[in-house]
Amino acid sequence: SFVAVTIAASVVAWVSVRRWDGSVRVWLALGITASAIGDLTFELLMVGRDVEPDISVADGPWLAAYIGLSVAVLIALRKGDRTTRGDVDGIIDMGVIALVTVLVIWEFWLSDTISDSSVPWFVRAVWAAYPIMDAAVLSIVMRAIIERRTQLRTGVLLFGGALLWLLADFTWMSIAVTGLLYAALDVAWMLGAVLLAGACWSIPERGVTTRPKADGDTPVGKVRIVLAIVPFFVPVAIYSVSYYSGHALSPMPLVIATAGFAGLAGARALRLLKVRDEAQASLASSERLYRALAANSSDAVLLLDREGRIKNEAPDFAQMIGIPGVDIRGRHALEFVATDDVESHRTLDEILTTPGVLFSRDSRVPRDGMEDLWLSGRAVNLLDDPDVRAVVVNVHDVTARKHAEEELLHNALHDSLTGLANRALFRNRVEHALTRRARSGLDPAVIYLDLDGFKNVNDSLGHEAGDKLLREVASRLEAVVRSGDTVARLGGDEFGVLIEESLNVELEAEEIANRTLEALTAPVTLGEAQVTVSASLGIAHADRDSTASSLLRDADVAMYEAKATGKSRWVVYEEKMRDAAVERLRLENDLAHAVERRELRLMYQPVIELQSGEVVGFEALARWDHPQLGLIMPDRFIRIAEDSGLIVSIGRWVLEQACLTAARWRRLHLPSLTMAVNLSARQLAAPDICRQVREALAVAKLEPAALVLEMTETALVQDAAVAAVRLAELRKLGVRLAIDDFGTGYSSLAYLRQFPVDILKIDGSFIKTITDRSKVSPIVRGLLDLGRSLDLDIVAEGIESGAQLEQLRDQRCHLGQGFLFAEPLREADAESRLVPRSVQPVTV
Ligand code: C2E
Ligand code: CA
Ligand code: CA
Repeated sequence: SFVAVTIAASVVAWVSVRRWDGSVRVWLALGITASAIGDLTFELLMVGRDVEPDISVADGPWLAAYIGLSVAVLIALRKGDRTTRGDVDGIIDMGVIALVTVLVIWEFWLSDTISDSSVPWFVRAVWAAYPIMDAAVLSIVMRAIIERRTQLRTGVLLFGGALLWLLADFTWMSIAVTGLLYAALDVAWMLGAVLLAGACWSIPERGVTTRPKADGDTPVGKVRIVLAIVPFFVPVAIYSVSYYSGHALSPMPLVIATAGFAGLAGARALRLLKVRDEAQASLASSERLYRALAANSSDAVLLLDREGRIKNEAPDFAQMIGIPGVDIRGRHALEFVATDDVESHRTLDEILTTPGVLFSRDSRVPRDGMEDLWLSGRAVNLLDDPDVRAVVVNVHDVTARKHAEEELLHNALHDSLTGLANRALFRNRVEHALTRRARSGLDPAVIYLDLDGFKNVNDSLGHEAGDKLLREVASRLEAVVRSGDTVARLGGDEFGVLIEESLNVELEAEEIANRTLEALTAPVTLGEAQVTVSASLGIAHADRDSTASSLLRDADVAMYEAKATGKSRWVVYEEKMRDAAVERLRLENDLAHAVERRELRLMYQPVIELQSGEVVGFEALARWDHPQLGLIMPDRFIRIAEDSGLIVSIGRWVLEQACLTAARWRRLHLPSLTMAVNLSARQLAAPDICRQVREALAVAKLEPAALVLEMTETALVQDAAVAAVRLAELRKLGVRLAIDDFGTGYSSLAYLRQFPVDILKIDGSFIKTITDRSKVSPIVRGLLDLGRSLDLDIVAEGIESGAQLEQLRDQRCHLGQGFLFAEPLREADAESRLVPRSVQPVTV
């Protein structure tokens, strides 16, 4: 049955190998099988014998069994991640166990056997091999258990099997075995094989565990402490046993074993020291690293208590905030933060009540006599951490970064040329003002300002001069507003003023507008030139539904209105202007196609020789027959045409038409007839205006002297130098030049003398001052005198009454136009006036 059981055990082991595979199982199965083969061989040898041989062929497989076992456990140990350190500790473990085992075996058996010279030496060697192999297997298994290289049950089974074999071998070899004891030994061997087969079976499916844990990773552990101390008692125990059993014992092996234990204990102690040194070294190196970091960075660490008071000396921090050497312990952290930095104050409150959460904030730190510091703090509340008991704040100087950010922000919100707020910031301020109004109840107002004729400065004097002018305007604007108001450059030559929190915002806005106009009257020196600019201003007041966009748009609309109604003035926005603005946009779109669609036509108003009442010429006046809006007067579209540049093509068309008509009428009716054509500032500025006029005259075959070109003073002075050159060129062509609406513009005598003109047209508004034939209007008389002194022909415009006509006749004004004689007439009607060669004036 013994052989049957051992063979069965090996069969079980091989079945497990078949089922799950794995090298550990294979070697274990090989070991068990070798043992079974040994058993079988021995039993066969014993057939027909009584005396057992000292050694036999069975010893071969038996010893081989130990090799299989050892290899299996060693493979288990090899698996998984291993560190050399763990290996050294494991080898010490194995050494201790092997030494204990060998000592016990030696003392109780081997010493006698080895010294028994009656037995041949190789027999003794084979005998000695058994307990030594047992010890070896045992120590390897122990190590596997200590390092948890096997599951506990596998370990216990392996250990149990190896121990049973060891004890049985030991007993069998050390004492003369007979009868029952012999059977017991057989049972022990049998059981050993069964346990090992069980171990084979118990190895987890995925092989040995590769989870090094517990003592396997630490040089010190409970088992290892036991392993270091207990062996010292083994020699003592052996000595005691032999002493009381009266056995004489050589002290030498005990001394050698004790020395061995001491050596192993020493090795373990050295290991501990080494591990400690390594740990310290790594600690020291991280500390050095930390110091190096701290020394090279501008970080400082503050530890705060529950109230927010500083607990540590923090010399770095004192240095950082410009009070080096000052002990700041006990002072409250917020003492160093600007009082108006509300966010930082709030954040500290939150930190003090919220453990374990990382907070970050930039705080402003005011310093005596120095600019403010910006510190970036990262704080975590570790008041509840028994190792720290503080709020740890890591502080970093970010002033330079803040400055850079501020500069970027400033650049993003300001105009680089003038340093004023830009449109984005202005809008933002308007939004804020509208929000604040809910609290204060004070409505904000916006002024939109556009320079008149800035483009001319830019074109004629260059961009540098233009820039200088804009800077000058900016500084004058800033001088006229209150300190709380915002001045912004909204683009090009457009500026904005925001008036806030004023108790009488209507008055305030008008005052600022007036002061602005006044401030602009002083000339600006740009290199050689002296330039005067004016501006058109639009004022918009916030109502309940105002938004920043609507307020800005309204002010813009009002500004446009100011431009359209004469420039150099301010206009307060009214609801109806928005409709005008919308219409203006529509007209501008439609006007682009008006010429090609033949929607424009000319009306002709007769110019009358006042003494005779005869028609001597005509003034051509444009009309626009809009397909949907009907007849549109030039007051509504000429400005749009000028602003959009369409006037150039429209003007050319007018010129060509008027010349053709004049030439025809001169041929058919009145050879001395003159034709007046209006030129806008934009046309006058066009470099090819002379060529246009020449071509129109040539095409119509009209004599140049028959053509009168009318332009307003305003058009002339916008760019006086260029205008003077142009007028001279035109005059060379032989055409005659008239100043239109004389008296309403600059009326500067200096200018008048500078311009080579032939005719003055006195504006209808002056003629209106004549109410009575006998009451001489001094202004009309003054203008007439002025014209005569310059040797100019004079045309009185807008003559509506007989009284006006008579007084003008009395004043020896030769020419006139007006409803009294005729309104602007359609071409055919105008022509019919020429047929009788005279017009009957309505006499009073
Ligand atoms: P303007 O050059 O001063 O033309 C005279 C304007 O006064 C004309 O208005 C005419 O209808 C009006 N008028 C004439 N007699 C009387 C009168 O007795 N009483 C009153 N209250 N008004 C009178 P219109 O045709 O509406 O033209 C307005 C302005 O449009 C013109 O003023 C001129 O500056 C401009 N304009 C007209 N046609 C052209 C054009 O072809 N080119 C350019 N650049 N401007 C033009
Ligand atoms: Ca005119
Ligand atoms: Ca006029």
